[in-house]
Amino acid sequence: AKSRGRNSAVLFEPSMHTTMSRKLALRNELAKAVSASDLSLVYQPIVSLEQKEVVGVEALSRWQSLSFGQVSPGEFIPVAEEMGLIGDLGRWAIKESLRQRGLWNQRGLVSEDFYISVNLSALQLVGQEVVVYLQEAMDTNNLRGLGVTVEVTESSVMKNYEQSKCTLRSIRNLGIAVAVDDFGTAYSSLAYLKDMSFDILKIDKSFVDALGDDRSGTGNSIVAAIIAMAKALGVKVIAEGVERRSQLESLYELGCDLVQGFYFSEPLRAADFEATVSAIEER
Ligand code: C2E
Ligand code: CA
Ligand code: CA
Ligand code: CA
Repeated sequence: AKSRGRNSAVLFEPSMHTTMSRKLALRNELAKAVSASDLSLVYQPIVSLEQKEVVGVEALSRWQSLSFGQVSPGEFIPVAEEMGLIGDLGRWAIKESLRQRGLWNQRGLVSEDFYISVNLSALQLVGQEVVVYLQEAMDTNNLRGLGVTVEVTESSVMKNYEQSKCTLRSIRNLGIAVAVDDFGTAYSSLAYLKDMSFDILKIDKSFVDALGDDRSGTGNSIVAAIIAMAKALGVKVIAEGVERRSQLESLYELGCDLVQGFYFSEPLRAADFEATVSAIEER
């Protein structure tokens, strides 16, 4: 029911009702899930195109709800943000992912510069709390900044630009790299790219999907332009949502450094990641 004629005075629809009551019920359960740490993390490998090496993983939250089953983060993260739960959820994600990173270190499964990448919400970029959490979790797990990256979207940064910039500067002072997520999808000005310091640019899946699809070649041109810009800025590039061999080949030709996507692996439980990491590098 997205487009409606101007004369159709639809005030309430059954589908709206479902959505609203689902949201209310989700809120209730999510509050409990966050306080009971009833969430889990999965890890998606990030692979270097040149060496075919897993250089890191992105940590993604999962919620298996009693009443709703598996709820996607695309649905529960916004709910957590609205409810003021994102601070707690975000703190949990930092603690849990850095604990896992520390464990892999201890077991000698990964190199020192192998990194875990954690997503941060707009609200976490306001104030310095997140910096303290990151520092604490690094200390607890004997990690150096080298092993950690945070991901922020352009639109989260833009919400409170000056404060976010300040928080990100403190995060970088810990030696943690900053990745700009979903690059190219927000209507933001390119001016911030030189104003804000960051280390990695993640090309959104929508641009990767357009690779090689069209006869005019615009899909490839956009990705080529993003990669050229990243190189000029001296930052690394990760292509997101790579599913097909043909996309991988185009990205390689265009000089993309790193890729992430179902082609190599979907996000995995820690134990599954440990069991398959060498097979992923063989792909
Ligand atoms: P994102 O940060 O852009 O994460 C990438 C999403 O793309 C993940 O969805 C991942 O599973 C999916 N993906 C990766 N490769 C492919 C592929 O080849 N094909 C397709 N179709 N999808 C692929 P997921 O796990 O459902 O997460 C959705 C979004 O939820 C994330 O998008 C991120 O914005 C947010 N999110 C997840 N966990 C957290 C978290 O702990 N904190 C915060 N603040 N946000 C989170
Ligand atoms: Ca991300
Ligand atoms: Ca992304
Ligand atoms: Ca996304």
